[in-house]
Amino acid sequence: MSLDHLWAGWRSEYVTSIGSVEAAVPGSPDGGTPDDPERCVFCRIASSGPPSAENGVLWVGTRTFAVLNAFPYASGHLMVLPIRHVGSLGVLSDEEGAELWSATRRAVAALEAAFGPEGINLGANLGQAAGAGIPRHLHLHAVPRWLGDTNFMTAVAHTRVLPETLAATWMRLHQVWPE
Ligand SMILES: [Zn+2]
Repeated sequence: MSLDHLWAGWRSEYVTSIGSVEAAVPGSPDGGTPDDPERCVFCRIASSGPPSAENGVLWVGTRTFAVLNAFPYASGHLMVLPIRHVGSLGVLSDEEGAELWSATRRAVAALEAAFGPEGINLGANLGQAAGAGIPRHLHLHAVPRWLGDTNFMTAVAHTRVLPETLAATWMRLHQVWPE
């Protein structure tokens, strides 16, 4: 399985997950337009209150935050995002860019402490053609990996059973998240 296929899988998983979040607020699941953050699922998560197992938010900084992917490829699959509704790296302020990177480092440290993975996939799909499910709101994925897990994922990609609930994953990461 190539990395491209893996990332495309993430996109479809997340788009699928938006249904429940979208239910409360009419609108398309495409993240809305650049001027329409009220229709963006990430913006709604960012304004959903302090970190909790309910909203899946793991950490909130000054300009960025981290949240669990509601339909993870592996336990611990999370995303790091700017709070501001921006779609590209070039639009980030220097402060946002710096905090995004430091938040990503915290996320990786938390994943390592909580899950002891043998590797971590870290990256972003910039734009729709690259496979971004929510192209209007920049987000970085971090997915813990283990040797041999690709075969497992290929075989059961559509009927995946994760070894723990999102609430359990949230608690595990929340406890070790670097301050
Ligand atoms: Zn947004």
